[in-house]
Amino acid sequence: MPVGGRCDAALRPRPATKTGDKFALWPYGKAMLSDEELDRYARHLVLREVGGLGQAKIRRARVLIVGAGGLGSPAALYLAAAGVGTLGLVDDDAVSLSNLQRQILFRTADIGRPKVEAGAEALKALNPGVQIRSHELRLTAANAMEIIADYDIVADGSDNFATRFLLNDACFFAQKPLVSAAVTEFEGQLSTYKAYEPGCPCYRCLFAAPPPPGTTPNCSETGVLGAAAGVMGSLQGLEVLKEIAGLGTGMAGKILTYKALTAEFRTARLPKDSACVLCGDRPAIHDLSGHSLP
Ligand SMILES: [Zn+2]
Repeated sequence: MPVGGRCDAALRPRPATKTGDKFALWPYGKAMLSDEELDRYARHLVLREVGGLGQAKIRRARVLIVGAGGLGSPAALYLAAAGVGTLGLVDDDAVSLSNLQRQILFRTADIGRPKVEAGAEALKALNPGVQIRSHELRLTAANAMEIIADYDIVADGSDNFATRFLLNDACFFAQKPLVSAAVTEFEGQLSTYKAYEPGCPCYRCLFAAPPPPGTTPNCSETGVLGAAAGVMGSLQGLEVLKEIAGLGTGMAGKILTYKALTAEFRTARLPKDSACVLCGDRPAIHDLSGHSLP
C-alpha cells in the first residue's frame, strides 16, 4: 500500500544571496576556495543557489560511481568538471572498441586498458583538483558496504540487475543516497532512493526482486543509442550535484522516464510500498547475505 512522505520536499534550501555578489562567497569563498577555483567555478559561483557555500559543499563531497560505462562516463565527467572533491570509480572491465560509441570517458587509444585506469586519467586531465579513487573490481555482497562507507552519495550506472539490487540494499543499510539511472535502446529512467528517510521508497518498492538471470536482454543484445545514455548520465550527474549542494527538489519519491524517439520526459510519483521486503513495515531483508553476487 502506498505511503505518503516527505520525499516531495525541497532539498535543503540555500539562503538567498544577490547574484554575482562577491560577498555571497563570504565567509566560505576566500577562506575555502583558491584563486584558481574562483576562476574555474566562476559560472557556479554566480548562481545564487550555488555560490561559494554550494561550491565548498561540492568540493567536500565524495561520490561513488558504479559502472564506468555509457551512464558513468558523462556523470563522472560532469561531476569532475563541477569540482566534486573525491570521485570513486567502480568497474572491473577493460575498454573495448564497441564501448566508444557511448562511453565518452575513453579514447580509441584506451582500448584494452582497465576502465578505471583510463577513466581516472581522463578525469584528472579535466580537473587535477579532483581526487580519483579507482576500484577495479566488481561490487559484491562481501565488499559493497566497506566501499560505500567511504562515500557520501552513490551513483548507479551499472548494466545488470544483480548490481542494482545489491546497491539498493547496501545504500539503504548504509543510509547513503543512491541516484540510479538506466538506459536501453532509446529510453531511460532515473530516480533517487533514500528509503532510510520517512516515506521515501527504495528500488524494491518498484521491483521487489531481480528477474531470473538470462530472462532480460542486456545492452549488447538490445543496443542503445549512445547519446540517449549521455542524456541519462548527465541527468544523473545533475541530480548528484543537487543532492550535494541542496539545490531545488530531488528525485526521491519520483521516477523520471525519457523517450528519445519522441523527445518526451515524464515524471511520475514513486510511492513507498509498506509491504516492501527491504524498507517496508515488516522487512524480510536485514543484510546482504541473500545476494547472488557473493
Ligand atoms: Zn522499498
